[in-house]
Amino acid sequence: MTEPLPTASAAALREQTASGHTTSAATVDRALARARQVNAGRDGLNVFVALDERFLRKHATVSAAQLTDTEPGLLLGVPVAIKDNIATLHHPTTCGSRILGGYVSPYEATVVRRLRDAGALPFGKTNMDEFAMGSSTENSAYGPTRNPLAPDRVPGGSSGGSAAAVAAGIVPIALGSETGGSVRQPAAFCGIVGVKPTYGRVSRFGLVAFASSLDQVGLFGATVDDAARALHTIAGRDPLDSTSADLPVPEYHLASARPVKGMVIGRPKEYFPDSLDSRIRARCDVAFDHLRALGAEIRDVSLPHTDLAIPVYYIVAPAEASSNLARFDGVRYGLRLEGDGLRGMYEATRSNGFGPEVTRRIMLGTYVLSAGYYDAYYRKAQQVRTLIAADFTRVFASGVDVLFTPTTPTPAFPIGAISDPYEMYLSDIFTATANLAGVPAMSQPIGRVDGLPVGGQLMAAHFGEEKMFTVAYALERALGAGASV
Ligand code: GLN
Repeated sequence: MTEPLPTASAAALREQTASGHTTSAATVDRALARARQVNAGRDGLNVFVALDERFLRKHATVSAAQLTDTEPGLLLGVPVAIKDNIATLHHPTTCGSRILGGYVSPYEATVVRRLRDAGALPFGKTNMDEFAMGSSTENSAYGPTRNPLAPDRVPGGSSGGSAAAVAAGIVPIALGSETGGSVRQPAAFCGIVGVKPTYGRVSRFGLVAFASSLDQVGLFGATVDDAARALHTIAGRDPLDSTSADLPVPEYHLASARPVKGMVIGRPKEYFPDSLDSRIRARCDVAFDHLRALGAEIRDVSLPHTDLAIPVYYIVAPAEASSNLARFDGVRYGLRLEGDGLRGMYEATRSNGFGPEVTRRIMLGTYVLSAGYYDAYYRKAQQVRTLIAADFTRVFASGVDVLFTPTTPTPAFPIGAISDPYEMYLSDIFTATANLAGVPAMSQPIGRVDGLPVGGQLMAAHFGEEKMFTVAYALERALGAGASV
């Protein structure tokens, strides 16, 4: 088992860069050296799909204005890895797919621009399941990424490359994306912090669409504080995304000073079924004990429609994907393979450009939207989605501040161990609910089982990220080294 070197925190890098104790060029050099080290050899982690060292070195400077500002940018001098479905200038944006091989976006995502405005250094593109469909980063045209803590295991997915970049000590922060758990699940598998913001909290301009009613840019941090600073930087209204909310953005890192005393932490029974691995349950119980000792009330609650989340998600997400992915047809983007006439060209391009899981989702989505099946599947799924969202509304209206659950039913599984798509879909069993309801959620390390990290999940009411961070900071402090035991 490789134990990754700790990277300097975002707060420390900002401080050291602002005071002249380090330079952004030196920080980028260190990150590149570490990336080279972990990617080398047969056991290379395969974290990045694009990492142009010369380009990164050349642009590794923060402006003189940023350095002399009285209040330095929140992420001054912090390298941030970017998932390959988030548009960047220069580096390609391929969504881990052959169909977008070599595609360079003519514009950059709002989240990337905001990172740069805050003094951060966008650092290469990370591997992912093709079009963010998967839970293991094995469905990538570039081959699987390995888990830095156990290289024979998956890092989770679909944002596995970003999670591995942080867990391997290359960068303290990385961007990912969430449709059904693609940040929280890999964060849990890699022993780091992962945040899915409220739907509408963060601009999606420049995030390649998978399922638009669920998608949100998410982020990884080596610590709760790294994640809090990253969220503050990228959140807020963007005129380029009409689904982004026009609400003030709190300074999430100030939540570190808030007490959890008096808060009500819900324990939803559906997330602790009898079948739950007893060792994962035990880690959660330790977390509950700490929160109780800090003066929080732990309250048993019920979210009765939880078990319907997977069937609903695997109708809604493929339906939206089948429509969103129709644009990749050989005409406008990336790959084009000639065939017999226009239709032949479409067929040749799409059947060669998309991998098996993406093809399966497009077929499933087209089926559930087709005449005769729409009412039975898609409309029904939308109705049940409303019930799932209502479960959350009711629980939060009853005075619960934050819910606490396991993030995943198991720790990281071996590469190649799950070949049945349905079994893979079950990885999202505790995470897809938050996407369907649009509420914010995060995962943080709460200990180990068989030496592998286990994640605890926090969920809050819409735009309640501050409460989530208040609990996460307190729990991180209370668990201390216990989180990585
Ligand atoms: N594992 C889920 C899926 O395959 C979630 C993906 C995601 O959140 N992007 O769809």
